[in-house]
Amino acid sequence: MDLTTLCVHGAEDNTHCTGSVTVPIYQAATFAHPGVGESTGYDYSRLQNPTREQVEKIIAKLEKGVDALAFSSGMAATTALMELFKIGDHIIVSDDLYGGSHRLFHYISMKNGLFFSFVNTSNISEVIKHIRKETKAIYIETPTNPMMQVTDIAAISKIAKENNLLLIVDNTFLTPYFQNPIDLGADIVLHSGTKYLSGHNDTLSGFLVVRTEELSEKLRFIYKTTGACLSPFDSWLMIRGIKTLAVRMEKQQENAIALANWLCKHPKVQDVYYVGLPTHPDYEISRRQARGFGAMISFKVDSEQTARQILSRVKLILYAESLGGVETLITYPMLQTHADVPQEEREAKGIDERLLRLSVGIEKIDDLILDLEQALCQDKLEIYGCD
Ligand SMILES: *Cc1c(COP(=O)(O)O)cnc(C)c1O
Repeated sequence: MDLTTLCVHGAEDNTHCTGSVTVPIYQAATFAHPGVGESTGYDYSRLQNPTREQVEKIIAKLEKGVDALAFSSGMAATTALMELFKIGDHIIVSDDLYGGSHRLFHYISMKNGLFFSFVNTSNISEVIKHIRKETKAIYIETPTNPMMQVTDIAAISKIAKENNLLLIVDNTFLTPYFQNPIDLGADIVLHSGTKYLSGHNDTLSGFLVVRTEELSEKLRFIYKTTGACLSPFDSWLMIRGIKTLAVRMEKQQENAIALANWLCKHPKVQDVYYVGLPTHPDYEISRRQARGFGAMISFKVDSEQTARQILSRVKLILYAESLGGVETLITYPMLQTHADVPQEEREAKGIDERLLRLSVGIEKIDDLILDLEQALCQDKLEIYGCD
């Protein structure tokens, strides 16, 4: 079945007795047993809930995994994932990361005895250099947030397999609609479902998708024990959001390509980071390993003043954290998503006062361009010349 159809029809619970075309919300914490030693398959909602089970099945199918676990947020998923490791274990991590993941590794996981090397994982030989006998996993984001670096998943998976390491891929930016890391050799795929999967900036969620039964068993144990599970209602909102994933991704990408090209030509814009531009250094890798480029664009303007002016002048585009929803959002990574990354480290990656990030939505492209155009104008007089 095509992914587009799977998004709409992936739920298996069709409640034949009622004919309901949507999955019911099983707002239950506990389930009665028919007899001693018997179970309906559901005991207590921290372990499993029929509504959550359906969103997990859809995500597992979309990501080609044997199992998917739904968490209350992306960070809850990453936190549970870290419980796979023990004191002294070492993990190689992309050096350009979602700020919250960086904060988790740096301030929580390290305190708990794990070691990390932050490496540019686009550079395979750099990754190899950092492997040591305590290394247990490689954790990558591709494309990265916010600098849009791409890692060759198949190449890094080969290195992981040769060294007996788990390969974990945060696939939030491209979603299973555009990229399937498990097909390319990943062991675990991570999602902030809050973003494209939900798609409407109204629900937090996170997912871990696994390649093997063994990983499913280990993570299910951590899941039921630590308890950051997705509620029945939020599971239902996720099922609803995913129904339109394919159409949203296509439209958002179409808008992103147009906007990236427009930004490239604007005199006040100096650099545009979008993996769908043929000038992007990893354009060919993206074309090889993904079916699309997504709708995340970062760009650098000529000065801090211009950056701040855009943020205060946008009207239609919302100055807000997060990404992936139908509304176009603009973010100032330095002050928002990456505020907790030490300044030196941040600036070495190019995350500075001139960098802005756009999550392109599904609005009419002309309206988005008009809004950016007026936000970039020097002063009111110039607005007349900016049509
Ligand atoms: C948002 C995000 C996360 C964290 O997810 P939450 O749902 O906000 O907890 C992790 N990785 C990436 C790439 C993200 O964009």
